[in-house]
Amino acid sequence: MPVAKNNSIIQIPNMVRIKDLAGILNLPVARLIKELIKNNIYATINEEIDYETAAIIAEDLGFSAVSKTKNEDPKESQTPKSASKKEGVLKLSPRPPVVAIMGHVDHGKTTLLDYIRKTKVAESEAGGITQSIGAYQIESKKKPITFIDTPGHEAFQSMRERGARLTDIAVLVVAGDDGVKPQTAEAIKHIQSAKIPMIVAINKMDKPEARVDKIKQELAKANVQIEEWGGDTPVQEISAKTGQGVDSLLATILLVAEMEELKASESGDGLGTVIESHLSASRGPEVSILVQGGTFRVGNLIHTDTTDGKIKKMEDYRGQSILRAGPAMPVKIIGFNDVPLVGSLVQTGKEKTASLIDGKTRQEQKTLDAINQKALRPKIKKLNLIIKADGQGAKEAILENLAAIPAQEVAPYIIEAKVGAITETDILKSQITNAKILGFRVKATNVAKSLAKQLGVKINLYAIIYELIDTVKEGLEEILEPEEEIRELGAMQILEIFRTEKDKMIVGGKITQGIVEPQALIRVRRSGEILGEGILGELQCNKQKAKTVKSGQECGIKFIGGIKIAVNDTLEFYKIEKKKKSL
Ligand code: GDP
Repeated sequence: MPVAKNNSIIQIPNMVRIKDLAGILNLPVARLIKELIKNNIYATINEEIDYETAAIIAEDLGFSAVSKTKNEDPKESQTPKSASKKEGVLKLSPRPPVVAIMGHVDHGKTTLLDYIRKTKVAESEAGGITQSIGAYQIESKKKPITFIDTPGHEAFQSMRERGARLTDIAVLVVAGDDGVKPQTAEAIKHIQSAKIPMIVAINKMDKPEARVDKIKQELAKANVQIEEWGGDTPVQEISAKTGQGVDSLLATILLVAEMEELKASESGDGLGTVIESHLSASRGPEVSILVQGGTFRVGNLIHTDTTDGKIKKMEDYRGQSILRAGPAMPVKIIGFNDVPLVGSLVQTGKEKTASLIDGKTRQEQKTLDAINQKALRPKIKKLNLIIKADGQGAKEAILENLAAIPAQEVAPYIIEAKVGAITETDILKSQITNAKILGFRVKATNVAKSLAKQLGVKINLYAIIYELIDTVKEGLEEILEPEEEIRELGAMQILEIFRTEKDKMIVGGKITQGIVEPQALIRVRRSGEILGEGILGELQCNKQKAKTVKSGQECGIKFIGGIKIAVNDTLEFYKIEKKKKSL
């Protein structure tokens, strides 16, 4: 019997019985079972298979499969959003940025978050915020921004350890009357290794002691390339106390967000991350999540890797009951059976571990636990993986190989290891958890391919196991903290002092050795002794800005720092460079 409706798009639920799938595909059951056997799947007429497996079969038969969410509101299936899903492409819409405020203790993070919350939430909403759920949303120039406000940014920290992507932009608060302190440096390291854009807010500008140039110099030394000196990090002077500069900071956040082109899909299963969780004596587990994809609705089944439940009640950051929550919304959920860990991935829908296809063998479960437990040790940076293989045996072989990788500072963490094609859900999960998608002798569905293209998610496909393992090893090396190395550039002898200001000098001299480059760090030496350090703000040769000046040439530089340079001093130029480590 010929296959009907070829090339058309069909919707398949998360779990489907063989009998029902045959109906959807308009095929005799026997023909479908034959197709399944071709793919090494031995299922009987009343057994259920998951969407991923059904999608491979459907696509082999020439259909385009999209997943049908069980909890989808029937009214909404008429909206253009679902219509576009029927066309085979999950529609992505712009979403608000998610911002974390980081920095040293007492530099003003809480004051800034409070100021923004009080002035911006109260402006638009009656009542303001009555409780903290770990994040809140404001509107600036009619555009929403979500701020993570967990104390000490526990969420950001655990996100980093889990290798996941939670925040889109980090605001680094540095007190103008203080400077770059150990936690500032730590925050810079975290932000840079998470590869998210940073905005520096120099705070406490209402204080007369605030010294902007000194802060900028310390930032440069800590490897932050500020815009003013040719880098890409915007700097905004603010006072969290008086509110000075805060509107400009919000405008900068929106500008950076616009460049990031942040998008998410509002349709489909809800996906999000736990940002706060605790057990309430009266209400049971109270779990705050940040929605990152799809929509969470009251009544939805939910699960994480350790617990599950059903959404009984949802509250927004104002403590108001809501029925649904979409991308970038922080929301408190009541209905989990147990308290999940901060940083866990939350999904709507039923966990599919019981399905025939995903039925893990005891050995596989043991290997999986061994891999993930190694990754869960404290201070280990994780490389998240989503593995899809063409069969149980291949999946187990991949896991065995992953378990054998030595894990010291970094380790692989399995978000999911399943048999089946790569689907749009895998792409969405990969984006949220920052997981590498590794397909072994499987294909990606057409919808998944198009979504991956839109979201910039890479699908890695292999036919040989050791090549897949090599990709994992390379990924682990990429997240290893690089070693810092000092690269000496050159030296200059001072011949003339042109101008002296507080924290700044313009001096001229001759390069006696090596080269000089803008943004170099400088040691000032007099009679062999180091007097102190500074930074090269601007480099000029023959009254023109220069990129490099070589030994034998004369040049003028803007020196930023507190040292008073004198004629005959030697300036030594160097840069701190990051060097990749290997496993
Ligand atoms: P956090 O530890 O980074 O959250 O810092 P806090 O927000 O708790 O601020 C530490 C102290 O600095 C508090 O006493 C604040 O009142 C004060 N503070 C914060 N921002 C400003 C500011 O812009 N100007 C002044 N003068 N004081 C500030």
